[in-house]
Order: sequence, then C-alpha cells, then structure tokens
Amino acid sequence: MKPFYIDYPQEKIEEHQHAYRCAYCKIPTTVIFGLLENHAEDCTYRTQQSKWVQLEAKLKPHSEHFDEPHADEVD
Ligand SMILES: [Zn+2]
Repeated sequence: MKPFYIDYPQEKIEEHQHAYRCAYCKIPTTVIFGLLENHAEDCTYRTQQSKWVQLEAKLKPHSEHFDEPHADEVD
C-alpha cells in the first residue's frame, strides 16, 4: 500500500488561483491531502486504487516470508 496517493488526475479550480482538485470527484487537493479515503466514495480514482490494493493483497500474501530462514531482521 502506498503511504500517499498523489497520482490522481487534477484540474484547476477556477475560482481559486492556486487550488487544484481531483478531476474525478472534484474534491480539492487540500482536502484530499494524499489520502485515498478522502476522495469521494464513488470517485473513479479511489475505486481503481482500491481495486489494486485488494489485488496486491491477494497476489502476494506472504511473499516476504517465503521459506527464508531469518535473514537480517534489522529494524
Ligand atoms: Zn477523487
């Protein structure tokens, strides 16, 4: 999972000089703040990203612990 979602299509808000919003759900970037859950629930971008997150979780459930005897467990 990505920590921040900032690769959604943005468009300028006409009424504001330096403000942008999601091209899909029209929510300002200052409100979204890089968080997927701040997009509208039916936002195309949010829907797409959620799908990928679910898919990723399915594809590699425990790939990190694949038969590897304790490599370097450095924090
Ligand atoms: Zn959106």
